[in-house]
Amino acid sequence: MMNIPMLDLSEQYQHLKEEIFQALEKVMSSSHFILGENVKKLEKDIAKYSHVAHGIGVANGSDALHISLLACGIQPGDEVITTPFTFFATAGSIARIGAKPVFVDIDPKTFNINPALIEAKITEKTKAIIPVHLYGQAADMDPILEIAEKHNLFVIEDAAQAIGAEYKGRKVGGFGDTACFSFFPTKNLGAYGDAGMIVTNDDQLAEKIRVIRVHGSKPKYYHHVLGYNSRLDEMQAAILNVKFPHLDAWSELRRKHAAYYTQLLSDLKEVVTPYEDENSYHIYHQYTIRVKDRDALQAYLKEQGVQTMIYYPLPLHMQPVFADLGYKEGDLPESEKAAKEALSLPMYPELRKEQQEYVVAKIKEFYHQS
Ligand SMILES: *Cc1c(COP(=O)(O)O)cnc(C)c1O
Repeated sequence: MMNIPMLDLSEQYQHLKEEIFQALEKVMSSSHFILGENVKKLEKDIAKYSHVAHGIGVANGSDALHISLLACGIQPGDEVITTPFTFFATAGSIARIGAKPVFVDIDPKTFNINPALIEAKITEKTKAIIPVHLYGQAADMDPILEIAEKHNLFVIEDAAQAIGAEYKGRKVGGFGDTACFSFFPTKNLGAYGDAGMIVTNDDQLAEKIRVIRVHGSKPKYYHHVLGYNSRLDEMQAAILNVKFPHLDAWSELRRKHAAYYTQLLSDLKEVVTPYEDENSYHIYHQYTIRVKDRDALQAYLKEQGVQTMIYYPLPLHMQPVFADLGYKEGDLPESEKAAKEALSLPMYPELRKEQQEYVVAKIKEFYHQS
């Protein structure tokens, strides 16, 4: 029996170990741990990569969302439109301000927010839209930006899963007023702890964000706004600076593995393989299929040594913490259906062909037996 994890970071680490040790040693001997040259370099490189003017390192991707909303002036009582089929932080960042997440159902093909359903949810309280580029595939940005323009709304891209993804040939991160990246260890560009970044083309927003991440302090020890301690630290930035030059090659490998999975699964009628929109350069943070009898399949694969994950088993409008928003089952049917059918298979750049063949052989075995 083979044992195949969802994600294996060990091979990557072995490959980069010496460079990482050197980079960390340099930080430690410099004794400069907070907002130093490593953070500056990463901010500059990620901004350039995203074709925007500013990168601002923050403590994690969740803070990137929260601070973006604050910088855009979102206040208690405001409404922010987003998808319910995402990681909790997308809506958590809205609720933490005291603003109200307003959920719009997804396009079942891409799992991303369905732009055609957004306008019906806009009220005089709506201030912003947070599209999520889920699993590494860009949301359909053109109609979203058009609606935002028409109704004078901010757009904050949740690009936590999508660094390097493209929409109509342009990198995600350059479409919204701000965009948010996460460098959580399991993301495509992962630190060895928590880290995140906001990118923006807007000089004023960039300035506000830089102030908010240091307690609202400007100049130092003078406070005009209430901020946070939310910084990307030098050790994490040093590690990310070693890894970043490899990102595009890793994305290409993920795409190659995705194509191979899709080829191997093509004759299996019980499985719907990921849809790649023609406008999209998908970087496969996750390779997510839709299947019948999902939970039984997952249990079978686990017995056979194959780890899989369900992103996400309960859409956000059905989460107990959001009960007071008043949604009920059936309100957002495509998200609810996706939550019952989605299954993410092992995916990382170092994944081997034999491992993929084993995963697919076990999926076939399950359906032929049942
Ligand atoms: C990971 C993730 C976040 C949060 O990032 P953290 O760095 O873990 O705080 C937000 N949104 C989405 C879609 C994510 O996948």
